[in-house]
Amino acid sequence: MFWNKRSLIADVIEDKCNNCSCCVQICRRCALVTCEVVGKVVTFVNDPRQCTGCGECVDICPNKAIELVDRYC
Ligand code: SF4
Ligand code: SF4
Repeated sequence: MFWNKRSLIADVIEDKCNNCSCCVQICRRCALVTCEVVGKVVTFVNDPRQCTGCGECVDICPNKAIELVDRYC
């Protein structure tokens, strides 16, 4: 089976992210979240269906810790 490239989606690079939540606050689609998972604070796209790939989170991140990647679905 082949997956078709359809659009872009945000992806947080965990090693660069300090969980400042700037991206969470700017996302108009509420696609991102900063929360504690198994005792560790992380930021990630918790609702991929809501991400439009607009790139506003990429632009605001002070650590270049979020990028747009190909979405396969
Ligand atoms: S803005 Fe960047 S550093 Fe801050 S939580 Fe988002 S991805 Fe992490
Ligand atoms: S690319 Fe746009 S819609 Fe997707 S998480 Fe970032 S700010 Fe939200």
